[in-house]
Amino acid sequence: MKLILLGPPGAGKGTQAKRLEDKYGFVQLSTGDMLRAAVAAGTETGKKAEAIMARGELVPNEVVVGIIAERIEQPDVAKGYILDGFPRNVAQAEALDEMLKGKGTALDAVVELVVDDRILLQRIETRAAETVGGARADDNAEALKKRLAVYHEQTAPLSAYYKGKGRLKAVDGMKEMDEVTRQIEAALGL
Ligand code: AMP
Repeated sequence: MKLILLGPPGAGKGTQAKRLEDKYGFVQLSTGDMLRAAVAAGTETGKKAEAIMARGELVPNEVVVGIIAERIEQPDVAKGYILDGFPRNVAQAEALDEMLKGKGTALDAVVELVVDDRILLQRIETRAAETVGGARADDNAEALKKRLAVYHEQTAPLSAYYKGKGRLKAVDGMKEMDEVTRQIEAALGL
């Protein structure tokens, strides 16, 4: 199963991806986690990405496309994977299509967690308040709002992109967590 979880910051993509990983063995591939690891390790990629991430902007396409291209070659993802936070714009989606085509394969599905913006802004305020001094450099209200704006500008068009390819399945991301998991499983026929 090769899957994309699409949805704005705070929609619960990470939580749901982790659940699918634990239950079905599909590997969660979070570009955000990989970039944070690169920042922590002080690699060249990490140095390039750090300030951009702290502002809530997108790191350059070639950086994340390169990271994913390398990662999906690893043997541990043979059972399948869940892309969490990638692609973030149409150029990345096209690069992914090409990458998979080159390997003679394609995505199985794109699941969008649909969440009301007002609820997200509330979650953003709560998350920022809870992480004062923060676990994540971009978990302050300003950066989170920027990430939401970037989502609308650059990532939201991916719904139409994948709908056009007949791959999109929308799930109500505002339900409680277990119900969202059930809906994702139903959408995927799991
Ligand atoms: P996330 O953990 O998915 O919210 O990602 C945290 C930050 O990492 C984002 O705000 C971006 O700065 C960067 N990032 C993660 N994935 C991507 C991507 N696919 N393209 C560009 N930047 C990304």
